[in-house]
Amino acid sequence: MLERILQEIRARQRFVVTSHARPDGDGIGSALACGQILRAMGKDAEVVMYDGVPRIYQNLPFAARALQAKDVPPNDAVILLECDGIRRAMLEGLDKCYLINIDHHVSGRNFAHVNWIDSSVMATAELVYRLARLACVPIDRDIATCLYTALMTDTGSFMFEGTNEHTFTVARELVLAGADPALCARAIYFGHSTAKMRLLGAALSNLHREGPLAWIWVTQEQMHRFGAREEDCEGLVNYALSMADVEVAIFFRELPDRRLRVSLRSKGEVNVSSVAEYFGGGGHKCASGCSLEGPLAVAVSRIIDRLRAEVVILNAESSTSSKATNEAET
Ligand code: 5GP
Repeated sequence: MLERILQEIRARQRFVVTSHARPDGDGIGSALACGQILRAMGKDAEVVMYDGVPRIYQNLPFAARALQAKDVPPNDAVILLECDGIRRAMLEGLDKCYLINIDHHVSGRNFAHVNWIDSSVMATAELVYRLARLACVPIDRDIATCLYTALMTDTGSFMFEGTNEHTFTVARELVLAGADPALCARAIYFGHSTAKMRLLGAALSNLHREGPLAWIWVTQEQMHRFGAREEDCEGLVNYALSMADVEVAIFFRELPDRRLRVSLRSKGEVNVSSVAEYFGGGGHKCASGCSLEGPLAVAVSRIIDRLRAEVVILNAESSTSSKATNEAET
């Protein structure tokens, strides 16, 4: 499929590269790198994001030339990264474009004219890196910095399940190409706004626990009170996951229309993507998300009920397998 993608790129001149709304590090880093790789191939390429580049990623190379827009500009093809459909990218007019879909989510879908979905890699950045290699585009320090940042963030700083020697091989090659790990990490993990830290305090004061589940939330009123932006919510869920006996953490963010955005994280035992998919969202086994109707209390109980069922299945499976082991041992 990689060869086919390259063929389709070679046959066209004007590209738009985009990712999902509320982009994360992999969405932004992969898109900025991909735009530059296309330019290095002699193409006209614009990175266009519905929500623009979040503050913590604004120092990435090429971020300043990324466009924020509601409509897709004229093009010969659009490359969508990390999207399971045109709805995720939000840009108007995508349905009339030639679409190339590159994604690494298990919940990825074949919605485009060409689809390259490989859920064996930890980040879409790895696929963009392979594309550059096949196209013989040299990976300079700027491209490496974007791709390394994408890989670092989507692996949770190389801590999430699935991170393996292959991930480190790609990271090593990106560092050899000029990415500076400390500098990349500093921008992301030591670049928080005051509003974000105040929001974190409010979220943790709403901490709820039930066995291996932990959940927190923030309301619109709290967001306004602290002057917090949507992007200030990124990563808050990880604080709830950081407790020793928590397997799954959930973060609820109230939206202006009282709907809820939900972020689910797992340490690996529970597959949270099946819960997100049940509610119309998606993602990975250890990190996924979805949206639900409010009010908050109703959304919380729907998600927690579903997760309780997953945990019961998990407990049943682990007691069956330990019983089988015991029987085999005796
Ligand atoms: P987050 O919780 O950071 O918003 O998302 C975690 C992961 O789940 C990301 O890989 C993201 O792309 C995916 N994800 C979040 N929300 C949705 C959704 O509504 N639909 C789909 N398909 N994936 C989502």
